[in-house]
Amino acid sequence: MLRWGKWPNICRQIPAEVFNVLQRLQSGGYQAYLVGGAPRDLLRGSPPQDWDIATDAWPAEVKAIFDRTIALGEKFGTVAVLIGDQQVEVTTFRREGEYSDGRRPDWVEFTPDLVADLARRDFTINALALDPIGRRLVDPYRGLWALKRRLVKAVGDPAARFQEDPLRMLRFYRFQSTLGFRGETATEQGIEAEAITKISGERIRDELTKLLVGAEPARGLKGLARSGLLTAIMPEFKAVWATDPSLFAHLVATVQAIKPAAELRWAAFLHDLGKATTRQVEGNRVRYYGHEKVGQELAAGILERLRFSNAFQDKVLTLIRWHMFPAAPWLTDAALRRLVGKVGPENIIALLELRRADIVGTGGSVCYAQESLAQFHRRVQALLTGETVFTRKDLAVNGREVMAFLGLPPGPKVGAVLNDIFHWVTEDPARNRKDLILGYLQKWRAEHFD
Ligand code: ATP
Ligand code: MG
Repeated sequence: MLRWGKWPNICRQIPAEVFNVLQRLQSGGYQAYLVGGAPRDLLRGSPPQDWDIATDAWPAEVKAIFDRTIALGEKFGTVAVLIGDQQVEVTTFRREGEYSDGRRPDWVEFTPDLVADLARRDFTINALALDPIGRRLVDPYRGLWALKRRLVKAVGDPAARFQEDPLRMLRFYRFQSTLGFRGETATEQGIEAEAITKISGERIRDELTKLLVGAEPARGLKGLARSGLLTAIMPEFKAVWATDPSLFAHLVATVQAIKPAAELRWAAFLHDLGKATTRQVEGNRVRYYGHEKVGQELAAGILERLRFSNAFQDKVLTLIRWHMFPAAPWLTDAALRRLVGKVGPENIIALLELRRADIVGTGGSVCYAQESLAQFHRRVQALLTGETVFTRKDLAVNGREVMAFLGLPPGPKVGAVLNDIFHWVTEDPARNRKDLILGYLQKWRAEHFD
């Protein structure tokens, strides 16, 4: 039971538009409840992300009550109600048949029975229904009990529920990461990791990304590893267990230390994957020659399988490829400009963030990481705001002008000359003027041709 005194606080957090939708459904003689993430988050005192309402009104009846609606998946009973600037999803109570293909139920039917609707939901904390007007909490699976214990527990028999829809295995760890809850042992024992291969790359991608950007990704990632889901999805990780399990701990610690943005978290998780296959012991030292290149290739395969966009892949792969950049104070301005040219001005700040997390994730001093990178950060910032030269495209002369000036035919020689000019200009960006560059070429021609 929910204590009576809690209601005012819960009601305060519900937008007027959502109340309005509930009210109008109930005035029409229908049942209407908040379901899914909203009651869960309201009861644990955290603002819900979206507002889902369940009702025994059929989709056509819902559409008749409200002026502005969009049929989202009418077959599945979902109608979006537009009210003010809010969009509230109203779904008719459903019950589902078996999932004989492990993807979707064989049949879905509408039902006037709220408890049947709650029974098909994945975890007990997600199977609560809340009516803030009648001040009623419907909780047939003891979701409130689990919320208080911060526990993710399957509704019904875990193995059967995971078999129906293997994506739920990932959601089990996803909620542990986003909510910081524990997973119930009996629920974890229902996991059959190999079944995850039935699920499409896109759906796996979305759940894994939510897990990674959660508040406690370490919890979720360790669970994925323990259950075998990690290697079922990314066999590339098998080499980690075979050669150096402490590498996994480092990857997890780096994820935990980096800001919760999707690209950063993915880059952190995969950045040292190449170490597992490049590991070499020389005397009493361990080396990982070229691990950032091997890591980039492994990550490329993973991200492609999971159907990430090209832009997302490019960003993550660039971060992995250059994560070993030298961040020492003695790095010259010219070298810094070339680094920015290689990774792109849009990625350089992210690369610094990856380095900071990498140091923290190695057990390095947070202070040292902040200190040494703060200076680097200031220099990069100054570079980015000032006019400067990052790549050959930024030069004040182009290939055609070089060919005309030196009387060269098109060919690799032109590229070599441009490279030479580029290095000369990055020594001092003030040199990036056409007259100065041509003056330099004049001397250059004297040395190379005459
Ligand atoms: P979030 O705050 O991340 O949106 P959520 O709990 O709302 O969390 P959704 O994926 O939006 O998660 O799903 C909404 C609700 O639908 C869940 O709370 C759960 O009750 C139910 N649900 C979603 N996916 C499944 C599934 N694969 N199996 C069973 N129930 C599910
Ligand atoms: Mg949701």
